[in-house]
Amino acid sequence: MFEHIEMYLGDPILSLMERYLQDEREEKVNLSIGLYYDQDGQVPMLETVRQAKEIVHSKVEQKALYLPMSGSPAYCEQVQQLIFPMFSELEHGKNRIATIQTLGGSGALKVGADFLKRWFPQASVRVSDPTWENHITLFEGAGFPVYKYPYLNAQNGDVHIEGMLSNLDSLPPQTVVLLHPCCHNPTGADLTPVQWDAVIAILQRRQLIPFLDMAYYGLGQGLMEDLYVVKALFDSGIRFLLSTSFSKIFSLYGERVGALSVVCTNPDEASRVLGQLKATVRRNYSSPPMHGALLVQTVLGDAQLRVQWLGELTSMRQRMRAMREKLYQLILEGGGAAARYAFLLNQQGMFSYTNFSARQVDELRREFGIYLIASGRMCIAGLNDGNVQRVADAMLAVEQ
Ligand code: PMP
Repeated sequence: MFEHIEMYLGDPILSLMERYLQDEREEKVNLSIGLYYDQDGQVPMLETVRQAKEIVHSKVEQKALYLPMSGSPAYCEQVQQLIFPMFSELEHGKNRIATIQTLGGSGALKVGADFLKRWFPQASVRVSDPTWENHITLFEGAGFPVYKYPYLNAQNGDVHIEGMLSNLDSLPPQTVVLLHPCCHNPTGADLTPVQWDAVIAILQRRQLIPFLDMAYYGLGQGLMEDLYVVKALFDSGIRFLLSTSFSKIFSLYGERVGALSVVCTNPDEASRVLGQLKATVRRNYSSPPMHGALLVQTVLGDAQLRVQWLGELTSMRQRMRAMREKLYQLILEGGGAAARYAFLLNQQGMFSYTNFSARQVDELRREFGIYLIASGRMCIAGLNDGNVQRVADAMLAVEQ
């Protein structure tokens, strides 16, 4: 009866991680999966999260009741305050946003995709070329045809803005356009505010449906800077969806904490959308888990912990920036060409696209135990003072 069921080939990034773990070489370097590693090569537990755990666990009366379909209200409130800081200027704005707690950023994308499929069944989806592979599988899984818009200029590692704009300007109304507000995965190439403004003008004129996926905010230029397009879209009055994740910025991967927000044009619309988001959750998994959300709302809801967490986020961002600069400098000292490696400085966030071929990526792994994704994506957070020289030497060696 089950004979026709095909073997699942696995996720290439997760399979590579398994391969890395089995590699017995001591000097191996993991620059593949999108995890933030600290200077000692460890995935950290943030000090603020540690404190939040003590607070949460000390509340002995904390019962494991079901959360509402939309998750913890205090958590949703904190998420809104974090990602829509323009509320302070726009008091009434809050009522036009529907926010629910989700199972990580992936869960937010999935609920958003199911919601869109139900209410815009004829729509198609456009994603950047390239994008996080799971965007494609996830939206196809929700029943959408998925196409790409030009994104990366492979020559210089910048955004191919003309290609992107002209593609978006050819789309029919109600096409869903997936955008990365900052720290683009996998390329690290981000739009400038002026470029975002040009994109927004097209989204508005063409009546497209923007879906912002934000898994790394605060790790690019800073929390407020990274939220530029969120604020600009909010101010423009366009309806849009926004998925957020606390996996990376709170180092809470396995807790599965994220949120989906839908920015509407008025409170009535927002309450109808919120109802439909709940209905989508109900028919998928009923309600989200509690623990991770309690940790995040405890940190964000406490003035002192919140400031402390912003400091931890800044340290993560600055460490990755410093590693970009160090790798660049060591490569140049080793004879690498400045123009070839300028992408390290121009791109931002957790990833960079090295432009290495699959053969070179293979060689890095086989000869040097350095793991990149086959596409040439490297995770900057895997670099530290102890391995950056070896990585620079190896990159130069495979250039030959
Ligand atoms: N969007 C992007 C662009 C990502 O890179 C990731 C995680 N790799 C996610 C969403 C999903 O995040 P989460 O682990 O919270 O589901």
